[in-house]
Amino acid sequence: MKKSIESLIISLFPKRCAYCGKVIASSRFMCSKCENELPRISGTVCRKCGREKDKCTCKGAENYFSSIAAPFYYDGCVRHGVHIFKFRKGLRNYEAYSLEMADAVKERFGNVSFDFITEVPMTEKSRKKRGYNQCFYLAKGISERLGIEHKSDVICKLYETKKQHGITYYLRKGNLTGVFDISDSSAVKDKTVLLCDDISTSGETLNECAKMLWLHGAKEVYCVALALTLYKKRNNKHI
Ligand SMILES: [Zn+2]
Ligand SMILES: [Zn+2]
Repeated sequence: MKKSIESLIISLFPKRCAYCGKVIASSRFMCSKCENELPRISGTVCRKCGREKDKCTCKGAENYFSSIAAPFYYDGCVRHGVHIFKFRKGLRNYEAYSLEMADAVKERFGNVSFDFITEVPMTEKSRKKRGYNQCFYLAKGISERLGIEHKSDVICKLYETKKQHGITYYLRKGNLTGVFDISDSSAVKDKTVLLCDDISTSGETLNECAKMLWLHGAKEVYCVALALTLYKKRNNKHI
């Protein structure tokens, strides 16, 4: 079912830049303008939150995951591309995004041997409404590029929550307690897991999912996201 939706979408629409939506040659993933303007995360990054040192806001706080890798900040053309990605016409963007994410995983976690990759889930109701979980496709793309087994639906989301960005730190924490569960403990026990999300705000969603994996016996959890939000001091929020 998932495969048929994906191939139908790919055959129906011309190839577009995964960041601005401009029609491009079928061999490319992005236009030259976006290639130059991508808000890439580069150089020395914080081991915990994945942001460059001068943009780190985690202050080294301990998490249930070991580290997070992401190619971009959630800004500029990446923000635009992700918006399109959440609609069917932009689903194909996962090809471009998973390539960048796979490169970030290789660069940051090159010495880690993962047992499987899984994604941050949506509630069944939300998934049916959208028709797919976009994080499923990101994990699938990374799995294919890096040869890591993709186990979908390992984590389940039990009920709907408010969007993580745009609410305060304390609300974010309470917002997620008890929201996730593990559908199959035996799949998780003693495993090194790569957990995939699209946008990470302060890492609370990833941390809550990692906590459930850890409670069910996972050996270690690493995270990969397409983009990390930037913290703006002016209004005390991640945007
Ligand atoms: Zn573009
Ligand atoms: Zn940090």
